[in-house]
Amino acid sequence: MIVEGVLMAENIIKVTLDVDELPKTWYNILPDLPEPLPAALHPATKEPLRPEEWEALFPKGLVRQELSEETDIRIPDEVREALIRIGRPTPLYRAKRLEDALKTPARIYYKREDVSPAGSHKPNTAIAQAYFNYSEGIEHLTTETGAGQWGSALSAAASYFGMKCTVFMVRSSYDSKPYRKYVMKLFGADVIPSPSDTTEYGRCMLKKDPGCSGSLGIAISEAIEIAMKSERTKYSLGSVLNHVMLHQTVIGLETKKQLEKIGEKPDKLIACVGGGSNFAGFTFPFIRDKMKGKNDIRFIAVEPKSVPSLTGVAEGTSRYEYDFGDTAGMTPLLKMHTLGHDFIPETIHAGGLRYHGMAPTVSLLYDHGIIDAEAIGQEDTFTASRLFTRTEGIIPAPESSHAIASAISHALECKKTGDPGVIVFNLSGHGLLDLQNYANIFSL
Ligand SMILES: *Cc1c(COP(=O)(O)O)cnc(C)c1O
Repeated sequence: MIVEGVLMAENIIKVTLDVDELPKTWYNILPDLPEPLPAALHPATKEPLRPEEWEALFPKGLVRQELSEETDIRIPDEVREALIRIGRPTPLYRAKRLEDALKTPARIYYKREDVSPAGSHKPNTAIAQAYFNYSEGIEHLTTETGAGQWGSALSAAASYFGMKCTVFMVRSSYDSKPYRKYVMKLFGADVIPSPSDTTEYGRCMLKKDPGCSGSLGIAISEAIEIAMKSERTKYSLGSVLNHVMLHQTVIGLETKKQLEKIGEKPDKLIACVGGGSNFAGFTFPFIRDKMKGKNDIRFIAVEPKSVPSLTGVAEGTSRYEYDFGDTAGMTPLLKMHTLGHDFIPETIHAGGLRYHGMAPTVSLLYDHGIIDAEAIGQEDTFTASRLFTRTEGIIPAPESSHAIASAISHALECKKTGDPGVIVFNLSGHGLLDLQNYANIFSL
């Protein structure tokens, strides 16, 4: 039976939205923050970065969004059309079989960001960023990628708008994880293992250590160097910055409509955090309401125990202070929760969560106690992921498994207390290109 896009059979609740229900505006949290966001600083002068300086890296349209004081920003028709083509609005599912396996009175829902062609939430911002560059005559985008999720999302978006894309891929991933590299190449991108001899910084790194296996920080420095050298080339970043959080709010805006349709009021909203963008996109529209006293939701950001940029504050491993986004110190300084820009994370399987910093907006909310954070060990995330695979039938991304593990532990708490709480988490991506990680963990 289908009632207004809500499929309710005995054991399944799947809430869909029509294409014309795709949000027409993004939600910008900046004007609603409990205090103004500390300005980004110039890496050399340490003075607040002026808009013209931002524009050396990013197109005007995105710089305007980065600094905007408007809460609702119109989504251009071209961007909405491209979002619809990749499967938006995405469905919201009730995890009935997972609930049954846990024997919990809690109702668990998940938002499906795994259904995009790239397999994650990243196209939501890749498309918007490619569009604003394209509309200002930019012909070429550069970026970095670790395991390749962001690189493949941006390659697809650049190809959609007829632009060139150069992706610096961390050499260790380039060598060991070929599939997303093939995805990027199919979309026409130039994929260069980093450090490379195409940039001064790369050559300098290779001279010091010819066998250097690379890092995200080095790859960012290389991508920025290329973008700075040419007029019609700009740099693109897949998380952390305000405009990226903004583009991801389609996730939370849709989820709000979907929960309203079935009359559910969530108690807890859960998402994993690397740079913070899928968490921000999922929760910010609800945080807007909470700050107006319209709900009393707990917002939980879940990170790996080995990369505790939020939870590490308690132990002193992480600090809320100005830091660089890359290793070379070429990016603007951002006030954020950081493990230090020279932090080298363990090689955990959730590659997308191996970043030293946290989005400034998410950091500020955490500092004010508006959101909570949890850290989960790798083993628990894979156990959760296997249970989710066998109950819900979807192999989740190792990153998303952090959110699943947290949702499961909160559902088990409800079982202890008999509380029929409502838990909603964001399934940020699928794990079909991460099978090698699963094979290694489970000795498949
Ligand atoms: C990149 C990625 C993340 C982490 O990035 P955020 O900016 O924190 O969202 C999480 N899940 C998946 C599937 C990813 O690809």
